[in-house]
Amino acid sequence: RTVYVNGDYLPEDQAMVSVFDRGFLMADGVYEVVSVLGGKLIDFEGHMVRLKRSLSELAIANPLSDDAYLAAHRDLVARNDITDGLVYLQVTRGNPGDRDFAYPSADTVPTVVMFTQSKPGLADAPAAKTGWSVVSVDDLRWGRRDIKTVQLLYPSMAKMEAKARGADDAWMVEDGRVTEGTSNNAYIVKGNTIVTRELSHDILHGITRAAVLRFAREAQMQVEERAFTIAEAQEADEAFITSASAFVMPVVSIDGARVGAGTVGPVATRLREIYLEESLKTGV
Ligand code: PMP
Repeated sequence: RTVYVNGDYLPEDQAMVSVFDRGFLMADGVYEVVSVLGGKLIDFEGHMVRLKRSLSELAIANPLSDDAYLAAHRDLVARNDITDGLVYLQVTRGNPGDRDFAYPSADTVPTVVMFTQSKPGLADAPAAKTGWSVVSVDDLRWGRRDIKTVQLLYPSMAKMEAKARGADDAWMVEDGRVTEGTSNNAYIVKGNTIVTRELSHDILHGITRAAVLRFAREAQMQVEERAFTIAEAQEADEAFITSASAFVMPVVSIDGARVGAGTVGPVATRLREIYLEESLKTGV
């Protein structure tokens, strides 16, 4: 596999980043994941807008132009022959030389790393037909989850707990209400209404979330942006999650309780179809 490091395209075993890089020492960096379907980048512009916001919230200088990010994404997709899969992009504050809590001087150059993962048949994931089971866990993350940082240890621990409990993912709960999944936004459906937590510092502002809510409204569904409890989710007609790599994924069980009939429902199915169809049309 060919990966991108600071402007160079290198075989992955020759790509290197300093041990003093603040991304490595302090999780001082941000990332984005863009899906590739049929060789096209899905929701690319939205991901770049969020990248720039994450960088700006952390006062990391944006090292590349929009055109350079796009060119590098396309280069990597071509060089690695990716039809379906993803492009991972990470920007860290870079290597100031010594380890120090204070941010380094402005002349420290951010580190940009990009790589691809091939996932043939990504849009036809069998799980979309059967749905995920989720379990609830306490949300023990920090207070700025709207910044897409690489500090993913707690979500990773929550994913492991979900697997240990025989589930596909965890929904994190704070003050009695669901924040989001380990790497996705969470939704429930009651009648013609879709409920998902409002945007704040408590959750990541999903790019897929924005697109799916737009499609839902266009399809005359009601959207309520508010937090919900696990009990309310267990009583819902349907549940689902969204993310750039899972698109719209139905959730059929929560903490062992069936959601609705315990099978994939019509709203999640329809939103998945619309999302895939529309985002393929607008892919770049
Ligand atoms: N919440 C969290 C915590 C995530 O990690 C992700 C995936 N990056 C999402 C939500 C979904 O965001 P997106 O639709 O932009 O992939």
